Amino acid sequence: MPHRFLARPEKAAGTSGAQLPPETPAGPSAVVVGGGISGLIAARDLQRAGLSVTVLEASDRFGGCVGRHSVAGIELDSGAESFATRSPAVPELIAELGLADAVVAPNPAGSWLQLAAEDLPSGAQRMPSSGLLGIPADPRHPDIVRALGRTGAARAAMDRILPVGSLNRRGSMSLGELVRTRMGDAVLRRLVTPVVGGVYSSDPDMLDVDSVAPGLRAALSRHGSLAAAVGAMRAAAPAGSAVAGLRGGMGRLTDALVSDLEATGARLRTGTRAESLARNSGGWLVRCSDGQELAADAVVVAAEGPAAVDLMATALPEISAYRPQPGPGVALVTLVVDLPELDAMPRGTGVLVAREAEGVDAKALTHATAKWPWLADSTGPGTHVLRLSYGRALSPEDAAEEPRHVEREDEDLFRQAVADASGLLQVRIQADDVVGWDVVRWVGALPSAVVGHKDRVDAVRAAVAESPGLETVGAWLAGTGLAAVTADTRTRMAALANALL
Ligand SMILES: Cc1cc2nc3c(=O)[nH]c(=O)nc-3n(C[C@H](O)[C@H](O)[C@H](O)COP(=O)(O)OP(=O)(O)OC[C@H]3O[C@@H](n4cnc5c(N)ncnc54)[C@H](O)[C@@H]3O)c2cc1C
Repeated sequence: MPHRFLARPEKAAGTSGAQLPPETPAGPSAVVVGGGISGLIAARDLQRAGLSVTVLEASDRFGGCVGRHSVAGIELDSGAESFATRSPAVPELIAELGLADAVVAPNPAGSWLQLAAEDLPSGAQRMPSSGLLGIPADPRHPDIVRALGRTGAARAAMDRILPVGSLNRRGSMSLGELVRTRMGDAVLRRLVTPVVGGVYSSDPDMLDVDSVAPGLRAALSRHGSLAAAVGAMRAAAPAGSAVAGLRGGMGRLTDALVSDLEATGARLRTGTRAESLARNSGGWLVRCSDGQELAADAVVVAAEGPAAVDLMATALPEISAYRPQPGPGVALVTLVVDLPELDAMPRGTGVLVAREAEGVDAKALTHATAKWPWLADSTGPGTHVLRLSYGRALSPEDAAEEPRHVEREDEDLFRQAVADASGLLQVRIQADDVVGWDVVRWVGALPSAVVGHKDRVDAVRAAVAESPGLETVGAWLAGTGLAAVTADTRTRMAALANALL
């Protein structure tokens, strides 16, 4: 049976704490608020450094955006399904947790790009590679020219000769404005918007370029063009696939972190929301939804942006001025289909969809059994897992034109997903071919990195730095994605442990 799953419950579901360990290690104590990946990593690093750690998680499970669901009897990731390998942060953590052997690369077939018929008569082509968020490193590459058309490609190539001007000295600006200014509208609409929609569920004109592509503007100044900046940043990243996954799914990362914390005696509580913070004779007092008050030497707030600010503002009222808007709501529809025609992987590992593409509501489709060979091995030939995503943050004008997909009924989204998958994969899928399906809604889970977000993050971090024993981590500060979250959390926890021990 399909079920509705709300990533952000409206209220705490009661208290279900793990048993307290028999012995409490001596040494300073810490409360970690939020049991998503950043909170679990923070807790692990502090516990292993010698602190006595309690984790409070408001929902009924740990992992936050890294979750699982079962569809047609197959255990699948319901949120994050991979991690970026541009930094060693996640591979190192995975190795520490004893999961190095489970790291797998995706099928190198890559994904496709679905454009409007007016832009590309064939509708779809392979996604050109070697870019950053869809920005090409070489606008003259034949695949890029094909996606942009000759006029669009000629405009993109002007990036090489246009002066950099004040683009790096100006205050906050959007990714969309930077790309449009340097490379023109075709690059923005046909390449960057589909990629950004898939990763951030947002529009490039709304996203703060310094939050989603840190260092890009500085590289533009250094290298003299956006293409050269992208090329240099790509060259600095490790060779090979840009992402990897875990055999069995990313949910294993959550399980391994929780097991590690249990083994080292951390206290883990689900169904317990932290409601307020107060300073308490050199340390902190955390009031919980079950009425308990926990005293600790340190508090790490690892909740999503609006919840984190609301909580910290109970002790630091000035912080409420920097409360971010809740991020975009996203609905993911997973279909398990028995359809041997899909064994041929007609669109590689999936499709990123341009907003202008006709007759499709989905912004992306992942052909999970094509992308992850371990998953195909477990389902066997002929059975396929398709995941379609709906909904993105748009400017108020654009939003007025697009339905709020996350509010659509499950059955409606299911029918839409079957139609979209048929169109995108060019294979007719009938309702009878579907052996299981599920709709998962992520409401407010993705951070809203709107223009000015970098300044907001800097201000929050400056205020928190003035409060000894308080730290805050998570994707809304570090940037979306497990790589950014892991690296930032670990650096900050090393400094916090150092200050306390
Ligand atoms: C659908 C989807 C797909 C994604 N795919 C990928 C991917 O393939 N690769 C990738 O690298 N990244 C992906 N991401 C992004 C990545 O999953 C996130 O950036 C990362 O998991 C965020 O972790 P976090 O700990 O910062 O926040 P969250 O996972 O949001 O965790 C925050 C936790 O805090 C809890 N909380 C909030 N308030 C309180 C409170 N007052 N008291 C107690 N608990 C509280 C929440 O319930 C939640 O569990 C995806 C995200 C989504 C939503």
